[in-house]
Amino acid sequence: MVNELQGRKSLGGLILLAAFLAVTTAYASAPIPRSKPAPPSAETSPAVPLPRAKPAAPSPEASLVSAPENAPLPRAKPGRAGKPATTAALRKAWPQSMGDWPKAEVLAARAACEKMLAGLDLIWRPDQPIGEPGGCGTPAPIAIAEVAQIRIDPPATVTCDFAVALNAWFTQSVQPEARKRVGASVIGVRNASSYACRRRNNASTGKLSEHARANALDIAAFDFSKSAQVTVAGGASGLLQKIGLSAKGNFMKALRKSACSYFNTVLGPGADRYHGDHFHVDLMKLRPGRFKMCR
Ligand SMILES: [Zn+2]
Repeated sequence: MVNELQGRKSLGGLILLAAFLAVTTAYASAPIPRSKPAPPSAETSPAVPLPRAKPAAPSPEASLVSAPENAPLPRAKPGRAGKPATTAALRKAWPQSMGDWPKAEVLAARAACEKMLAGLDLIWRPDQPIGEPGGCGTPAPIAIAEVAQIRIDPPATVTCDFAVALNAWFTQSVQPEARKRVGASVIGVRNASSYACRRRNNASTGKLSEHARANALDIAAFDFSKSAQVTVAGGASGLLQKIGLSAKGNFMKALRKSACSYFNTVLGPGADRYHGDHFHVDLMKLRPGRFKMCR
């Protein structure tokens, strides 16, 4: 994918806009490849447009395609073993742009980000600010391509707090559960949606989705080291039958339960009509009277 992204670098503004639209749509829905816009669905088609970053300043999702200011993400190495990459070695400079955010806020958020990611085994790229205070966006987004040696496909645009929580979940629960219950390591997850400027469940009114704050990820599938994939919609049985692994409990159920220790919202099949084929995890702010929602 990185090669593909690099290859598009030389395309002009119209192509960038087209790519932005295609990528934005594809990010919000499960199917990959991302080149074809997905058909409208509850998850992908806001009835009422939400405020967006100014067209002149492409969002990081567009940046993943062709923003000259951003360095390409290093390609994740499936199944790589040995010493983990350090964030410092792979880190590129933050883009110059402050977008529509106060400079002090952007710089503070970036400094906090670097501090919290230090020492974690991530492949990530610093991106330019998205949106504006009080609306969609976040001052210091990053694109993550690999977290704790688990590939994020395609790379996800998230906050650093979110990346830290994802790293902890992968390291402390996802990987141990996979080895224990499936007998294989997870080497990748399929990103069905990360940043998207929209309201919850794409409603025309109501609160912004945590996706609009780059504070959420939809995971549609897990890739295993034995060349198998288990989809959230299909549960673990498909994988077990396909590669003949022994079942020691319900992997998906265990994952979903464990996610609630790391995130503030966890939704999946059965929770409502919007989450039948993916796990949604986010870091919604918990204020007095607002509790975790895991179902
Ligand atoms: Zn979601």
